Parts: sequence; structure tokens; C-alpha cells
Amino acid sequence: KKGKLMKTIAVLGATGSIGTQTLEVARANKDIRIAALAAGRNIRLLEEQIREFLPRVAAVWEEADAQKLRTAVRDLDVKIVSGMEGLLEICTLPEVETVVTAIVGMIGIRPTIAAIQAGKDIALANKETLVTAGHIIMPLAEQCGVKILPVDSEHSAIFQSLNGENPRQIHKLLITASGGPFRGRKREQLADVRVEDALKHPNWSMGQKITIDSATLVNKGLEVMEARWLFGMDLDRIQVVVQPQSVIHSMVEFVDGAIIAQLGTPDMKLPIQYALYYPERRFLAGDRLDFARLSQITFEEPDTETFLGLPLAYRAARAGGSMPTVFNAANERAVSKFLSRKIGFTDIYEIITECMEAHKVRQNPSVEEILETEQETYEMIESRW
Ligand code: NAD
Ligand code: MG
Repeated sequence: KKGKLMKTIAVLGATGSIGTQTLEVARANKDIRIAALAAGRNIRLLEEQIREFLPRVAAVWEEADAQKLRTAVRDLDVKIVSGMEGLLEICTLPEVETVVTAIVGMIGIRPTIAAIQAGKDIALANKETLVTAGHIIMPLAEQCGVKILPVDSEHSAIFQSLNGENPRQIHKLLITASGGPFRGRKREQLADVRVEDALKHPNWSMGQKITIDSATLVNKGLEVMEARWLFGMDLDRIQVVVQPQSVIHSMVEFVDGAIIAQLGTPDMKLPIQYALYYPERRFLAGDRLDFARLSQITFEEPDTETFLGLPLAYRAARAGGSMPTVFNAANERAVSKFLSRKIGFTDIYEIITECMEAHKVRQNPSVEEILETEQETYEMIESRW
């Protein structure tokens, strides 16, 4: 039985860490066609990508950048669009079958919704969308009959572990965490960490924002919320386990006590490729796990006294409604202030805590209310820090 020959995709966030690795997967598999690419401001790299993959449409955020790009690629048959309208156009192109959401932040919500409504499967990297709008995205995907395929490595590991299993027989999800570059430190040893230190992830190479989120454990908190929506699981059945070698990418415990896990070297191309070809597997070049060299896999409990990203995320998730949006928006703004050296590392926790304490939860928020909450959170931060 031979599958269809071509798979046509659109990539949002093409110039980022996940985006460029998605294009590497496409380069290695000749049967993926890139119909559309979207990026923020890196038009130099986007131009190279357009020349290599010849999409029909490409989007950038600013119209001024779009004009520069139009001039640069005027020898090619590609339409250049901009702004939210451009992203929405890309997500709904008739030939696109799967949209890879590798954009960073809540800007991904509306394009993801538009893609689902247009019947596209979603290869979802943009976790902020599920964290803040999971209550809208998941029922909509079900109603439109589209698949949400996880790209985040932990969720892909869970998804792979659930293959052929009855989801009602899950006892709990075990999300693994590396613990980040500051694992083992205590609170007072975090006060003066530098941006360069926080950007050194022990195992994964990723975009800047998510690398800081790994150091604060906010990323793990976002992943708990992401898992909750993706797998419809209660929060008290999602447990984080620190596994510093990043070999076990996550696990599922079933009602009979059996635990199934996915292991491998840390390489995002595996979950990306799995999402693009699911349920098929393809050859993937690269290092393989060598158990003789690995020799041990160790486990710890997360230090929730020091790394407040995790307990704050559980608190936001339990409050529900618009609170995860506050958690996410406050963190996003705090991380950008930390990266530009305006605040210290532990101020990130303080900003998230204060924003959450000041917020009155709106239950079941609409997209407009989610985006309003995001703005209110940004405004509060700008007025205080
Ligand atoms: P990144 O910063 O490397 O890339 C972000 C991409 O989004 C860039 O291409 C940028 O140009 C684009 N972008 C930003 N603003 C845009 C806009 N307004 N319009 C269009 N494009 C815009 O980020 P990343 O590390 O690749 O992460 C992307 C998403 O994937 C995030 O949600 C992250 O949490 C998630 N994720 C990343 C990894 C990883 O290994 N990097 C792993 C799991 C999940
Ligand atoms: Mg992850």
C-alpha cells in the first residue's frame, strides 16, 4: 500500500529554531512541499528560504519589510503578504494540508484557529496558543475533524507512547524535565545569574525565549498546561519528573501500572518529522542512543521551592479561565526584560506572581478577552517595572 506522494505544508515562524529544523526535515524528505512560509523580521534568511523552497506565498510581520522582500524576490513567482491578514491568508491556502505553528507567543492563536476552521491539520509547536486558548482550540479541532499533532518533544513522546492505547486507561502523564542550567542551585544562588548563563541549556538548542523558560522551569509549567489540553487530562494526573540527561522524553503510566516511554537523543527533528508523517515513521539521520556510552539515567523531584515557574503554572492552571494568559503574558514580558538586562533572573517570578495576584479571573474567555488580558498584563508590567 503506497501513501500519497506529496504532503503540502505551511510553516509559521520559518526562520526560528523549530522553523529551520522543519525545513531541514523537508529538505531531507523530497515529498514535502512548502506552499507558504511566514517569519517575523528576519527577511534575509526568509529570502534564502524562499529561493530554496519556492513557496507560493510568504508572509512577514511589517508591511515595510514586505516591500523590501518584494523587491528582493521580484524575479520569482511568490506573493508577499504582511501582518495578521498575511498570516491568516497563509493558514487558509487551499493546497495546504498541515500548518506547522512554530511562531512564538500568543500571536499564534488567531492563525491556528483560522487553519483549523479551514480544515488543516496542525503540527503544533506554539504552546502559548494551547496554554491560553486550549478551551477554544481543542473543541474546535474536534468539531472540524482536524488533528492537533504535538511538536513539543514531551508531548510527542506522550503521543507516541499512546499509540494503539485506550486513552481512558491512562493513569497519569509523566513529563520529564532536564532541570535547566541551574539545577541544584538554591533561591539565593539565582539572584545574580547572567543572561549568558541562563542561555546555556545543558541538552537542547532552542530559541532564546524558551531557553530562559527552561532555566526558570516556566517552560515545564507551560508544558503541563499544554498536556492538559492535548490529552484532556486532570492537572493532578500530570507529574513532572526531573531527568537531567534528556534521554526519556516523557512517559505514560497506565491503570495497570505499566509505564511506556519514548527515548532518544535530544533532536527536535524527530518530533517534527513524526508530526508531519504521523502515523508513519521515516528514516532520520543523526546520532542514535548508545546505552553503553550513556551508562545511566537518573531521576530527581523538581525543586519547586527554588524554581517557581512550576508551582506558579499549576496555580494559574487551577485558577483556569484567563489566568494562564496572565501567567504566560507576564512571563513573556519579564523574559524580554531579563534578556535586555533590565531586570534580574528571579524578578521574572516576582512579576508573574504580582500580575497573577492582581488579576480577576474571567472564566471561559473568548479570543478577544484573552488578547485583552494579555494587553492588561503588559500595561501593568510597564507601569510598575
Ligand atoms: P524562535 O524565537 O527561534 O523562532 C520564532 C519564529 O517566529 C521566528 O521565525 C520569528 O521570525 C517568527 N515570528 C515572531 N514573530 C512573528 C510574527 N509576528 N509573525 C510571523 N512570524 C513571527 O522560537 P522557537 O524556539 O523556534 O519556538 C517557536 C515555538 O515553538 C514557541 O512557542 C516555543 O515554545 C515552541 N517550542 C520550541 C522548541 C525548540 O526546541 N525551539 C521546543 C518545543 C516547543
Ligand atoms: Mg518541550
